[in-house]
Amino acid sequence: MSLSEKVVIVTGASSGIGAAIAQVLAREGALLALVGRNVANLEATRKTLQQQVKGIRAEIIAADVTKDAAAIVQQTITQFGRIDVLVNNAGILGKGGLIDLDIEEFDSVLNTNLRGVVLLTKAVLPHLLQTKGAVVNVSSCAGLRPFAGALSYGVSKAALDQFTRIVALEMAPQGVRVNSVNPGFVVTNIHQRIGIVDEEYNGMLQRAIASHPMGRVGDVFEVAEAVAFLASSKASFTTGALFPIDGGKHNLTPR
Ligand code: NDP
Repeated sequence: MSLSEKVVIVTGASSGIGAAIAQVLAREGALLALVGRNVANLEATRKTLQQQVKGIRAEIIAADVTKDAAAIVQQTITQFGRIDVLVNNAGILGKGGLIDLDIEEFDSVLNTNLRGVVLLTKAVLPHLLQTKGAVVNVSSCAGLRPFAGALSYGVSKAALDQFTRIVALEMAPQGVRVNSVNPGFVVTNIHQRIGIVDEEYNGMLQRAIASHPMGRVGDVFEVAEAVAFLASSKASFTTGALFPIDGGKHNLTPR
């Protein structure tokens, strides 16, 4: 995959899709900066990598993407001396539509899923210009089409997708590629984190299974493999692409 010895920052590497991305990139020979707030979970990700890949180099960076962009870059450079790839995976869900919108939650979702990505990408960019590197953003099917009742999240991911396309155009002449993956429903802790549990979660999962044309939800590794592809030189002529990994859901007409 040509990711051997490439220095990759993965945000949200302490859980779900980000932990799977770290595993796939480690297998491809990348050197990893694992970013998240929960140090115990980051340690667990690193332990898994060490069990799977002999001699893997993975450093833990305890940081909040909404506040710590400069520290993330500085610690990565101190540890590895360069940055080849940034994977903006950290993200959170919001609940509800406009009528029941909690504006503080809206701000928090936009702050994490959009502003945090903008700040970190801007901070990493000088290093990517040196390495002719790449950015992969983890967006969502909810960025590609509207879902009633998922206002904050959908707005944040649609804006993230436009960010991907604009920065891809800006950076193309400099040889820095910027792409996104746009997953459908994937079983992780993201729903539980905002209190969707038990019957509510099971109902949501069943509706998700039924609403994906392939008749199932996605797996974290299906997303991670696509991230690894877009991060690698195999995708050397691909930039500004939004890559749906959603069993065909993005082509359904919103109801
Ligand atoms: P999880 O809740 O399992 O993981 C979210 C990750 O984001 C955690 O590692 C968490 O780290 C990190 N994170 C959240 N906020 C911050 C912050 N302020 N600073 C640093 N890290 C942060 O969710 P998923 O794995 O499902 O989600 C990963 C990405 O995939 C998100 O961008 C999400 O929107 C996207 N996605 C998920 C889908 C799904 O169905 N699961 C579908 C489509 C897209 P920590 O707890 O250590 O702070």
